[in-house]
Amino acid sequence: MLFMDHEYTLVLNCGSSSLKFAVLQPHTGACALQGLAERLGSNQASLTYQSEQGKGQVQLTGHDHQSAIAGVIELLSAQNLLDSIRGVGHRVVHGGEAFSQSLLITDDNLKQLETISHLAPLHNPVNLLGIKAISQLLPQLPQVAVFDTAFHQTLPEAAYLYALPYEQYEQFDVRRYGFHGTSYRYVSEKAANMLGQPVTDSHFLIAHLGNGCSACAIRNGQSVDTSMGLTPLEGLAMGTRSGDVDPSLIPFLCERLNLETSDVMNILNKQSGLQGLSGISNDMREIQQAAEQGHVRANLAIEVFAFRIARYLGALAVSLPRIDALVFTGGIGENDRLTRSLVLEHLAILGFEVDGALNQTNGNDQGRITTDSSTLAMVVATNEELMIAQDTFALTTQNA
Ligand code: ADP
Repeated sequence: MLFMDHEYTLVLNCGSSSLKFAVLQPHTGACALQGLAERLGSNQASLTYQSEQGKGQVQLTGHDHQSAIAGVIELLSAQNLLDSIRGVGHRVVHGGEAFSQSLLITDDNLKQLETISHLAPLHNPVNLLGIKAISQLLPQLPQVAVFDTAFHQTLPEAAYLYALPYEQYEQFDVRRYGFHGTSYRYVSEKAANMLGQPVTDSHFLIAHLGNGCSACAIRNGQSVDTSMGLTPLEGLAMGTRSGDVDPSLIPFLCERLNLETSDVMNILNKQSGLQGLSGISNDMREIQQAAEQGHVRANLAIEVFAFRIARYLGALAVSLPRIDALVFTGGIGENDRLTRSLVLEHLAILGFEVDGALNQTNGNDQGRITTDSSTLAMVVATNEELMIAQDTFALTTQNA
């Protein structure tokens, strides 16, 4: 099947109370429409979008994900895009050990996917809900699942096993999986491209710093270590997640605060990280504003955040034979000069020296933010939606 310029992929990212969508042309990356349904599950559910014609809002008939997807389809129809959609790509958070690549959805593998939902109980069931809603509402369209974990299935045992009784891995799949894999795949390919070298002969450290934050070591184009683990809670400090803590903290807080484990998990997932340390916000822009005005805890939050990134990158470096580049990506990685310069200062031992002027402009043409004599650090914008659109196109045309 030949690809036409007017053919698009619908990309869906179903979260617990939100649905992000985008209509992309997989070869050029042109985006005809994108939007967000928010506060799903509440009676304030809303759907907003942006297209070439401008911004708008769709009235939803209900409050759940199914209604939001129906709203997206109605919008596609109103924008005359529905007939141009050739496939639907879904972000699915967890692929377990069964899925090391993106997957063309069939009835059989959908059942298999259901069997690993326990690995990401907050995310996978809602991702599957999106797949089922499309099967019902647009049954003629092929669907593809693109997993956050898939890219990390190349991790060696030494990196993915916890030092726990081995039976827990055998019986319950307890191991480190890693997340943000779609972003790492996209960014490593793009960085190699920008450097004019094959990704299969490239060695990168990448820090994906968004609301969720993680870092990854990529050797010859493959993930060999990463900071997130069984769940996205492990590793770096994030917007609201604590990242690594001593597990003994959990019973300690249960006892001190007279809480259940689930309450403490809620603190670690939703009230920690930048939010918990600063007491202001999970949003880096607000924290920096406060820090500039002398807010002590906002400043502390930035310091802890940056130090932890550098500490993890130092640890990840042991998995690489050389560092071709340290790449910053995600909302904070792409825009936040202060975090980048603090991280690079902590990493002087690895030969990094920030170029203040280049860092200020978020990098030169090549994304470079370091001096000529430094180990290279660069800024590369991620685009997970495009990667999902391209995988969807590849799998649906291969099988057409
Ligand atoms: P998500 O993980 O939800 O995709 P993003 O990658 O969009 O999130 O990143 C969101 C984070 O990026 C927020 O903490 C936000 O404050 C931060 N951010 C976005 N723009 C800037 C900026 N100009 N300066 C500093 N931080 C920024």
